[in-house]
Amino acid sequence: MLELRDLSKSFELHHQHGARLDVLRGLDLRLHAGECVVLSGPSGAGKSTLLRVIYANYHPTRGTVNVRHDGRLVDLATAAPHEVLDVRRRTLAYVSQFLRVIPRVPALDIVAEPLLQMGADEQEARQRAGDLLRRLNVPERLWSLPPGTFSGGEQQRVNIARGLIVPRPILLLDEPTASLDAGNRDVVAQLLAEARAAGSAVLGIFHDEDMRDRVATRLFPMHALEAA
Ligand code: ATP
Ligand code: MG
Repeated sequence: MLELRDLSKSFELHHQHGARLDVLRGLDLRLHAGECVVLSGPSGAGKSTLLRVIYANYHPTRGTVNVRHDGRLVDLATAAPHEVLDVRRRTLAYVSQFLRVIPRVPALDIVAEPLLQMGADEQEARQRAGDLLRRLNVPERLWSLPPGTFSGGEQQRVNIARGLIVPRPILLLDEPTASLDAGNRDVVAQLLAEARAAGSAVLGIFHDEDMRDRVATRLFPMHALEAA
């Protein structure tokens, strides 16, 4: 479960002394197990910013980001860094729009890593990673290579596999299917349906209307705020 209360985020504009850009203002949202809420709204509405604030990449200017973690509520807006890391390991997955490529690390290891961090057996983690990469149609000859030279769609599928390998209660997805063909979008829709059936909640951004219709249980409309 995720609960946002009166959440606001503004950025300081360094080139204009004292000026701030309001991006999120007073947002309230509850996300329950099994739901898939899709953030909708024009470019610049703050959709990606909202996911980054929830994942604690950005501090909110005001408000709370409560997640249920180990049976209690943790407010990520005020949680200590080690607690944020623990929430990220076990409760909150975030798939950014692009894979952050780690030099020299093969695709299979990138995908397996979150499971290994949870203490999974190496053999089992690699097996699970391979299963996911196979389902996402990443050719087996690529698994032992670092994804730096992969196509955009291949990198994105490695990124999705890494985000989904640990079954976590909350999935944050920033346009995970933007560079995927129809067949691979189908696979992602199926993986998300399975995650939801297993009790995960999804908060995502999907520009593709067809994808949105297939995965969303509810839309959360957002709009760009006028300059303060
Ligand atoms: P898109 O659909 O194009 O991805 P979005 O809804 O995801 O758009 P955001 O990326 O959240 O939009 O950006 C919202 C606004 O916040 C934009 O005007 C952007 O310039 C601004 N913004 C985002 N991050 C920062 C930052 N670190 N510093 C200053 N301004 C920022
Ligand atoms: Mg965005």
